[in-house]
Amino acid sequence: MSDINQERLDTQRFDTIIIGAGFAGLTAARDLAAEGQSVLVIEGRDRIAGRTWYEERLGMGLELGGTWVHWTQPYVWRELNHYGIGTVKSPDFQRAIWFEDGERQDGSLEELLEAMAPGCDAFGVETRKYFPRAFEPFTNPEAADLDHLSVDDVIATLELTDSQKQRLRTFWTLNFNGSTDTAAYTQALRWLAATNGDWQVMWEACATYKVEGGTKALADAIHQDALGHGAQFLFNTRVAEVVTDADRATVHTLTAEYVADRVIVTVPLQILGDISFTPALPTPINHAAARGQTGLGTKAWFKLKGHAEPFMALGEPDWPFNFLQAEYPVEDGIIVIGFGSDASAIDVTDLAQVTDAVQRIIPGAEIEATTGHDWCSDEFAGETWPMHSVGHFKESFTAFVAGTDRVRFAGADYALGWGGFIDGAIESATQQSRRILNEVVASASTERTLSEASQK
Ligand SMILES: Cc1cc2nc3c(=O)[nH]c(=O)nc-3n(C[C@H](O)[C@H](O)[C@H](O)COP(=O)(O)OP(=O)(O)OC[C@H]3O[C@@H](n4cnc5c(N)ncnc54)[C@H](O)[C@@H]3O)c2cc1C
Repeated sequence: MSDINQERLDTQRFDTIIIGAGFAGLTAARDLAAEGQSVLVIEGRDRIAGRTWYEERLGMGLELGGTWVHWTQPYVWRELNHYGIGTVKSPDFQRAIWFEDGERQDGSLEELLEAMAPGCDAFGVETRKYFPRAFEPFTNPEAADLDHLSVDDVIATLELTDSQKQRLRTFWTLNFNGSTDTAAYTQALRWLAATNGDWQVMWEACATYKVEGGTKALADAIHQDALGHGAQFLFNTRVAEVVTDADRATVHTLTAEYVADRVIVTVPLQILGDISFTPALPTPINHAAARGQTGLGTKAWFKLKGHAEPFMALGEPDWPFNFLQAEYPVEDGIIVIGFGSDASAIDVTDLAQVTDAVQRIIPGAEIEATTGHDWCSDEFAGETWPMHSVGHFKESFTAFVAGTDRVRFAGADYALGWGGFIDGAIESATQQSRRILNEVVASASTERTLSEASQK
């Protein structure tokens, strides 16, 4: 994908090396290079865009990873506007399926929302108290006192019927793409805070507006911009170690080493421990890498035969698929997305397993073809969308925002606002790039002052 001169890279000292060419890495590369920095991006895969992956599958362009964006997500929305890329709406769902005390319900979307409302309203009632400013999560220090609570802990305290609790658990299992047992209540409230505490708008933000031409269109636009400003990209190259000292940061791959003033690390939290850092990173960061996060689920695409009408279905929390969204009517069927909270519970490329999982929600369902990507077994992901576990917010979050003198963190895993989203990846890269540029300006100004003083 690149025709860079390896020999020159080995001897060049960069201003910034960025590990990873997902949305965070691409944004940082563009922003830093646009301000005149020399930038090298080192990417393990043979492609850009990381946990977004738009590809032809099942006869159409499908998103295997990150998909939906929303105007409540200011960073990605600005980028779309900047590059003149529009959005495409998912279908307006008339029909919904859900479960009430184990009994399957088939009704309208309004009826499903009504059934969800008592639980969802009660769960988020203190959102604005603890997170009054969505993009400044540390505004109320009392929020950290909640960080021992899991989503399950909080649901257990609510005055709801068992059925309402179960539906609420499904909703948050879906949002975390993982178990609500380890899912941090603070993380759930932070998502809600980003839509002013309104769970319905939050849900709309999660699954309604897609990028026209796919996420690839936006990733390509930022990549082209970064290249235009002189950023260099190295693909198929895994970073194994980062060594820093008073003078430099040295990034070791399996076969070479590259030197820079600073390094921006954008790799997912779940696989951060695969890179060794010398000296060791601060303890709260190492604890976070060992703790991992909760988004360890799955996403599948399949063709459901004999159905034409778009629908939404909410299953039980621990089923291999707990949510279905029928997106694209095709000949003799509809292309459906399935989400489940445990990647190890289902092989999304296995027709029999997918059929079995869908039939729990739609008895007798006939599946013709299925596809997907196991992000949790992917050596460069290890997780789907990052959702913090209990204990991360209080102990580790600020350590990632601070980074160290030479090592900084950017990415959806480390974002202040929409953590877990494309927006979060762009946001944290925007912030960390600006911070580096400010430091460079400040340091140049100090040097100038010292030089002028010495000449007097
Ligand atoms: C199934 C799924 C559904 C999702 N749905 C949505 C959605 O609808 N809307 C939304 O906004 N978000 C969604 N997300 C989340 C979104 O895709 C991610 O949060 C976002 O793309 C992350 O960007 P990033 O740059 O922070 O990280 P990544 O995209 O993971 O980029 C990190 C890069 O680092 C590279 N890397 C890792 N280790 C190394 C190494 N040692 N050496 C070199 N390179 C390395 C990786 O290959 C990767 O390219 C979804 C994600 C998944 C998986």
